[in-house]
Amino acid sequence: MKFLKACFHITIIALLTILTQTGGIVYIIALLINPKFLKKINSKISFLLRFLVLYSFVSFVITPPLAKVFGRVALPVFSNNSVKPLNIMTCLLNRNYVTPQLKKSIESISEKMNKEYPNTVISYLDANFPFYNGYPLLPHLSHNDGKKLDLAFLYKDNTGKEVNKTAPSFIGYGVYEKPKGDETNIPQTCTEKGYWHYSILHKIVPQGNAGKFTFDEKRNRALINIIAKETATDKIFIEPHLKARMELTSNKIKFHGCHAIRHDDHIHFEIR
Ligand SMILES: [Zn+2]
Repeated sequence: MKFLKACFHITIIALLTILTQTGGIVYIIALLINPKFLKKINSKISFLLRFLVLYSFVSFVITPPLAKVFGRVALPVFSNNSVKPLNIMTCLLNRNYVTPQLKKSIESISEKMNKEYPNTVISYLDANFPFYNGYPLLPHLSHNDGKKLDLAFLYKDNTGKEVNKTAPSFIGYGVYEKPKGDETNIPQTCTEKGYWHYSILHKIVPQGNAGKFTFDEKRNRALINIIAKETATDKIFIEPHLKARMELTSNKIKFHGCHAIRHDDHIHFEIR
């Protein structure tokens, strides 16, 4: 029984460390600290309370200043009306940290975007963890140095109205803007070559909202062109059929390779 309990704790610690970077350590501290006044209540509720209070304290009070030592800052959560997380969980899981330069770049991109398309909100997805270069933000192997950021595409609703801070997938990944008719079909090529994981998210993420949104070609084209023109931008990854469909010509827009996952559900960009 003790062995099973130890295995359970180790699994949770590993999962929390993979998902949030700091959650595993917080879990260990919550196991070790048990103040007297909490001993009167149910032990499971007491542990949950200890974990939540400690996790909030570490995430909101300790992590932001300490991340600065590692050259990372948090992306805006509520402070910038034009740059917001698509899903607040990104921030609660500490997955919204970038270098100060990348934060500056995305703020500048959003200002330029709003001059062309007022009231556009750029919704970010996974960025990087707050600490250590080389520590990957799984499942993205390259998001490990503060210089990578994923953005949700921009969409219209079924009436043709531009919508913001929403996407067919609640996490921003896994609902694809698939190749049409005679467009180059790289996802099919990658799958045929044996890269079974290339389209895996489609099978995991609920697809119920797919028909409620239309890919906003005009705004996505403008946004990607603005990102490409940003001096600090090094590379942008989107699926080749979308690059062709939107007639994008910047040589910063590249194909990421079949070893990655497909990029017709989000924009990946990275700075130098
Ligand atoms: Zn990415």
